[in-house]
Amino acid sequence: MKKRKKKTQQVILRCPYCGRDARIRPASYVYGRDTIDPESFLYVCDGYPDTCDAYVGAHKESRLPKGTLANGRLRHKRILAHRALDALWKGGYLTRHSAYIWLQTKLCLREQDMHIAKFSDYYCDQTIQECNEFIKWHQESRKGEGKCA
Ligand SMILES: [Zn+2]
Repeated sequence: MKKRKKKTQQVILRCPYCGRDARIRPASYVYGRDTIDPESFLYVCDGYPDTCDAYVGAHKESRLPKGTLANGRLRHKRILAHRALDALWKGGYLTRHSAYIWLQTKLCLREQDMHIAKFSDYYCDQTIQECNEFIKWHQESRKGEGKCA
């Protein structure tokens, strides 16, 4: 019989910015003692906070990384990309599921790569651009419908 490890799996990531290791830490390590959720964890670069500010969230259950390490600039872009994609289903253009499928097709991504937490700067930019164009196109065609009616 296989022995199951009782401890959660230890994963060490390599920081793409400075090449150091990134290991799991409580979120309070980055966000401070007042972190709302003591159960939340991050993978933080060993260079943090002195020389590097890269980190990424961890899944609560598995404690595995949610995506790739990101510095402040990329984290901000991922937030904007999320917001742009959310606007499609929050605006009622698509369902949430179909918005993800639509973007995955647009960006030619495999299903396992269709996670904004894994996106590079490039894919974030593409996401924002495609989503904005989608909404613009729909708004214009709605206007057009109005004229005809
Ligand atoms: Zn680093």
